[in-house]
Amino acid sequence: MPSTAINQRHTAAKVVRKLTRIILHCTATPEGRHVDVATINAWHVKRGWSGIGYHFVIYLDGSVHVGRDVSKVGAHVAGHNADTIGIVYVGGCDAAMKAKDTMNDAQETAVVNLVKALRDQFGALTLHGHNEYAAKACPSFKVKEKFKWLVGY
Ligand SMILES: [Zn+2]
Repeated sequence: MPSTAINQRHTAAKVVRKLTRIILHCTATPEGRHVDVATINAWHVKRGWSGIGYHFVIYLDGSVHVGRDVSKVGAHVAGHNADTIGIVYVGGCDAAMKAKDTMNDAQETAVVNLVKALRDQFGALTLHGHNEYAAKACPSFKVKEKFKWLVGY
């Protein structure tokens, strides 16, 4: 179970920054195309960042992979990185690269479980979409509608 490994990793990590929100993203890649942590890391290094800007990556099969360590400030929403955790799911575009909610059931379950695990560890974090903070489609749906019951607190 991937979430067990994540919890162990987090328990080991000393998180000193104040966390209040989780922000959800998509990789803006075509539906069904696999993208891994190393690839996203390479994209972000190319942008001149220290490495992958997201803390967690949810693959097409619903497995959760650690990106940037959660103790470190991410690079995923301009002006909102200091107190947030960035989660990205693989997908978010159709074959023509138009924004589309491509999140499958396994990924949706992974989001729910990851958000719950992070709340267990870090307290009452609210859940948001990148598009609540920028004029972008990302994550290609409205978090407040899709995860209405989960945004909470
Ligand atoms: Zn985004």
